[in-house]
Amino acid sequence: MARIHSQDTKPELLVRSVVHRMGFRFRLGGAGLPGRPDLVFPRMKKVFFIHGCFWHCHNCRRASVPTSNTDFWKKKLSGNAQRDRQNYRRLKALGWSYMVVWQCELRKETWLLLKLKRYLEEKGSCG
Ligand SMILES: [Zn+2]
Repeated sequence: MARIHSQDTKPELLVRSVVHRMGFRFRLGGAGLPGRPDLVFPRMKKVFFIHGCFWHCHNCRRASVPTSNTDFWKKKLSGNAQRDRQNYRRLKALGWSYMVVWQCELRKETWLLLKLKRYLEEKGSCG
């Protein structure tokens, strides 16, 4: 499957180091799960997606559709968003929960840390 990789992998590294500092163990590389999540917490059945705002249609300034070839981009980007939603549904059906970390959120590190922490410390239904 062709994957679009953003030019820099920094967002992922940042999230990894933040989570690592909090003392959580995780796996990389999707672990065979729908949508290939960036970080996988097998024991908790939780995953993180680290999404680029543009490619995944985040509702923020970074995600505006280009002014040339607008139709092409609209179609392409809404296709991406649709695929994301399908993957989320499939994950849930398999009993996993997920959280999306947006590229634009990475600048607010303190806030991000809280968001990650809160999510990871939340008790799942099986404790
Ligand atoms: Zn964004």
